[in-house]
Amino acid sequence: MSIREIRPSRRETPSKSEKGNNYHKHKSDLQEDFNYCCGYCGSFDGFGYTKTYFEIDHFVPKDFLIKSKSSISLSKYSNLVYSCRFCNNNKTKHWPSKREDIYLLGNEGFIEPCDLEYENHLYRTDDGAIMWNSPIGEWMATTAFKFDERMDELKLLWKYNKTRIAIEKIIDELNSYPDNSEQHNNIKTKLTPLFEKHYFFQKELATFYNG
Ligand SMILES: [Zn+2]
Repeated sequence: MSIREIRPSRRETPSKSEKGNNYHKHKSDLQEDFNYCCGYCGSFDGFGYTKTYFEIDHFVPKDFLIKSKSSISLSKYSNLVYSCRFCNNNKTKHWPSKREDIYLLGNEGFIEPCDLEYENHLYRTDDGAIMWNSPIGEWMATTAFKFDERMDELKLLWKYNKTRIAIEKIIDELNSYPDNSEQHNNIKTKLTPLFEKHYFFQKELATFYNG
């Protein structure tokens, strides 16, 4: 299945200016456009253990743009990716070329996460592990983003998010029936096992990030 629950898509015109160096002003647009998920690994930004967990990545790296005195502004929206800090930190050192417009070189490099092609290189197994379909996918997964080293955490985040989505769906269904009706009560029984799972996944995540 697809590595991200929903493929991210940037709006044509961001609500803030694309001039200047203060790219943080785009964070709320990016959150929406990336569906509150990391563009690269698909992790959901919602378990709230640390405020700095999600960051803004520059697809063509920020340091590279500064050093090369690029004409691409640090605030250029099409170059920004909503990213978990693990993907952002891991990606930093791995630009494959010495040019800002060359992001693929042989079997090394990055696919832009809003590009349809991203899904051709990486995919997700039923238990939430991230795997690859191509040498570029393998390079991104193992050399750049180190998904292989973070697999337990990525699987856990995926399961946690799936449980959250399932709970929300059931609550929506529940709200369409009157309180205490038979349908309402039947649907309600489906929630208990999901809440239990959600609770245990959350505890495990807390161990990862706070432990
Ligand atoms: Zn990520």
